[in-house]
Amino acid sequence: MPELPDIVVYIEAMEKRILAHRLEHVRIASPFLLRTATPPLASAEGRGVVRLRRLGKRICIGLDNDIWLVLHLMIAGRLHWKKRDAKLSPPRGLAAFDFDNGTLLWTEAGSQKRASLHLVAGEDGLAALDPGGIEVMESDLARFAAALTSANHTLKRALTDPRLFSGIGNAYSDEILFEARLSPLALTQKLKPEEIERLYAAVRKSLSEWTERLRKESGEEFPEKVTAFRPGMAVHGRYKEACPRCRAKIQRIRYAANETNYCPNCQTGGKLLADRALSRLLRDDWPRTPEEMEMYTRERK
Ligand SMILES: [Zn+2]
Repeated sequence: MPELPDIVVYIEAMEKRILAHRLEHVRIASPFLLRTATPPLASAEGRGVVRLRRLGKRICIGLDNDIWLVLHLMIAGRLHWKKRDAKLSPPRGLAAFDFDNGTLLWTEAGSQKRASLHLVAGEDGLAALDPGGIEVMESDLARFAAALTSANHTLKRALTDPRLFSGIGNAYSDEILFEARLSPLALTQKLKPEEIERLYAAVRKSLSEWTERLRKESGEEFPEKVTAFRPGMAVHGRYKEACPRCRAKIQRIRYAANETNYCPNCQTGGKLLADRALSRLLRDDWPRTPEEMEMYTRERK
């Protein structure tokens, strides 16, 4: 699922192309995509784009009548910048936003259509879609520690909970925990102050370094290689490969269709976290499926 670094780079690429341009027409191919009935889709057409912003892992396009298009790509949704009136081919093609200077095409791979589009009015409409997690890049250590220890969760769950932290998912949480040398199963309320400080620094370092890296990679192009498995990641997607720090074999914990990767030497004191022994944690305090985690909004909390 595109996370904070990917979303930031998408938004920057969109700003260069659609800011101050007019959204002339919206074509929607998938009947499951649009999740709101009011305001109507027609209220977005013929309007100028005045602002773009990120809300957790969502991309928000603000129009000159204070209507916002809120795009959630979920796992397999991707955006593409094409020539005006580019062909929209279902089932992969979900929607096309035709601007006066080109078309933003939205696709989703796979048969499970999870991506969603909401149309909302004003800041209140946006706030209702906000799960409420803090922006770590804009938070000091005290605020970070307060969010982290607000309940006793495994670190993996806490970091990926959009009600606690904004924009962090399965991939970057693995990288952050590796950077912080902490176990994905460590419990937030058992952490020592220096461990919390290390984690805080690791979140900021990982997110800012990856954002910078992805920004450089796409350059002036529209980001077309968005993936959760990046060459250069230390542990995420590296099961059985050598840890870049100590050469130990990267391990995994599997759950649902997902897995968490970690270095047993750097993060868990040499211990392998056997799937079997984790049954209780996996049941009670592990991230649900990424889709489920993304269903949290302020309203439903
Ligand atoms: Zn290691």
